[in-house]
Amino acid sequence: MRTIHTKDIVDAVAGMCVKANTELPDDVRAAFEKAMAEETSPAAKEVLRQLLENADISADTKLPLCQDCGLAVYFVEVGDEVQIEGGNLRDAINEGTRKGYGEGFLRKSACDPFSRQNTGDGTPAIIHFDFVPGDKLKIVYMAKGGGSENMSRVTMLAPAQGWEGIKQFVINRVAEAGPNPCPPTIIGIGIGGTFDHAAKIAKKSLMRRLDDTHPDPDIAAKEAELKEAINKLGIGPMGLGGKTTVLDVKMTVEPCHLASLPLAVNVQCHSQRHEEVEL
Ligand code: SF4
Repeated sequence: MRTIHTKDIVDAVAGMCVKANTELPDDVRAAFEKAMAEETSPAAKEVLRQLLENADISADTKLPLCQDCGLAVYFVEVGDEVQIEGGNLRDAINEGTRKGYGEGFLRKSACDPFSRQNTGDGTPAIIHFDFVPGDKLKIVYMAKGGGSENMSRVTMLAPAQGWEGIKQFVINRVAEAGPNPCPPTIIGIGIGGTFDHAAKIAKKSLMRRLDDTHPDPDIAAKEAELKEAINKLGIGPMGLGGKTTVLDVKMTVEPCHLASLPLAVNVQCHSQRHEEVEL
């Protein structure tokens, strides 16, 4: 067994929160640059230029990329040869979130759904655990903005609706969302599992790098087909028109009940802030 102390987890999580909120990941920056080169509309080009300038300012000043520093979401892979010392893993991740959002002066957005009273420290984080072979602990963090999350949907399609039904639902969702999720967006799609699981794998799809290609050629082709169809909507960067409504579409497909076709569409804004650490 390998022992990992909660203190190291707290520090690693706090560091990720600050870094992700102030340094735009290289894959997202590259996607902005590519989109700017391909756009012909002056307004679209200018928005993308401003997004790149915003990223430079954040990196230089350590001010957050966006005023909405999101709800902290984590996907955690716990090796079966890992032993946590000094406390509980969930508590350590929440403590790291508290530390990162506090020391980084990141906006705390967690609140009670009824009273709307802010919890004051950015917690509780949303944490998904998975147990894997090995002696490592991998923690992936995402700052999930409210504007784009509000545009997300889960639905249960009839199995007979198939790929055409899925495609139509996703395209309609992006069209109805319009400028609200701060495009250009990344669309995470979960197909299969159950109602709840589809939403989880849609979120997990957003953790993939923008420059990766799905290992299954059929799913990779479906992602490309949807990206092309959505970008024909013409919503464009920040809704001002253009070819770049989405930077990418990322899909996870898993088996489901034979009577069901669960589909989740998780919309992520251009401020795609994610980081990961392996301890
Ligand atoms: S949706 Fe994203 S870019 Fe828009 S305000 Fe929220 S976090 Fe910021």
